[in-house]
Amino acid sequence: MMEHVLCAKCIDCGKEWEARPDITTCPSCGGLLDIKYDYAAIRKAVDHKVMAGRSEQSMWRYMEYLPVLGKGSRPKLRVGWSPFYKADRLAKTLGLKTLYVKDDGVNPTASLKDRASAMAVVKAEEAGAEIIACSSTGNAASSLAGNAAAAGYPTYIFVPSRAPKGKVSQLMIFGAHVISVKSTYEDTFRLSEEAIRKFGWYNRNAAINPFLMEGKKTVALEIAEQLGWKMTDYVALSVGDGCTIAGVWKGFRDLYETGMIDRLPRLISVQAEGCCPLNRAIAENKPWEPMEENTLADSIAVGVPRNADKALNAIRESNGVVVNVSDQEILDAAKLLGRTCGVFGEPAGVTGTAGVKKALELSLIPEEASVVSIVTGNGLKDTPNAIRAAGEPIAIDPDMEQLLQIMDRL
Ligand SMILES: *Cc1c(COP(=O)(O)O)cnc(C)c1O
Ligand SMILES: [Zn+2]
Repeated sequence: MMEHVLCAKCIDCGKEWEARPDITTCPSCGGLLDIKYDYAAIRKAVDHKVMAGRSEQSMWRYMEYLPVLGKGSRPKLRVGWSPFYKADRLAKTLGLKTLYVKDDGVNPTASLKDRASAMAVVKAEEAGAEIIACSSTGNAASSLAGNAAAAGYPTYIFVPSRAPKGKVSQLMIFGAHVISVKSTYEDTFRLSEEAIRKFGWYNRNAAINPFLMEGKKTVALEIAEQLGWKMTDYVALSVGDGCTIAGVWKGFRDLYETGMIDRLPRLISVQAEGCCPLNRAIAENKPWEPMEENTLADSIAVGVPRNADKALNAIRESNGVVVNVSDQEILDAAKLLGRTCGVFGEPAGVTGTAGVKKALELSLIPEEASVVSIVTGNGLKDTPNAIRAAGEPIAIDPDMEQLLQIMDRL
């Protein structure tokens, strides 16, 4: 709640500003802002018992940790409190002692981005905005379109023209004004920023708006609670712009600082081999450099990560592990998750799991480790790649002879 928020602090120049929904970057130097909390006040307000008595089953379960007005209007869609599975069969297949899968693909518009977009709609309302805009490789857009539609806000949404049809179809159904840009995500982002400045729209571009990371961090709060506040050794997830991993880290830090968990997990940052500017910066211990966007996992095909500083801090502070996976390893992970867990993820959604497998193979993490793998988006968003992963079924005529002939190939 806003009464627990101290300020919005610039991560570059260190200046502290009032945490207002209309201030989304440092007015002094343009740096990224970080929302700071009064941890002593949160400590007084919540403990394990208080949380156990809560009936709210959404991201708004954690109001004390969120930068929103206590009495503001509540979002219309049910975002968060996604399923958390102990994935014993998958763990056994991978040769890992303990593995959990957090399936954020079951959110209302089918990705983790709903957590940020629900927050964006609340902050837009608090800011008195009339129109919300963003650029996205797909899921930020579809989640904004859905959450805004539920609250009655028009949206202007910029997507690179390569965005998968499933995601674009969501935008069209939710009634967004869609601008499909025939270029990279980077160019799309730049155009959206220009337009947002020109028209004065509310800016949902996640890397820029510090409140959105606060929405994303709720996935970490849920994981901790679903683990009975006993953290695993590692939490693995895919990384594009870097807002999700930075938000996840912020969530665990907030819980640690307020005495809700007694140790912090190490993050496993997973990127695609063809687009891994953040992991490369960590591995080579040098500043990040732009890369080509060369992967089929469109949601993490981000050559110029917009939240690089916060993401790199998160990986380093957590003593994190970085691992890159090939497109084939991503497709294999989609099949593996589907077959051992019944969880269907889009390519970027299963990339974290592909990273766990690879990290084990490379002995970057021990077999005795306990790991949470976050599935960040649903597989129905990108069915062509799902078919690529799993193949087409064998078609036959309605004839028993033909059925018998193919039985051994099923
Ligand atoms: C956006 C997204 C990511 C990566 O999040 P970033 O904040 O860009 O690092 C991963 N998976 C899916 C499905 C996404 O939509
Ligand atoms: Zn600054």
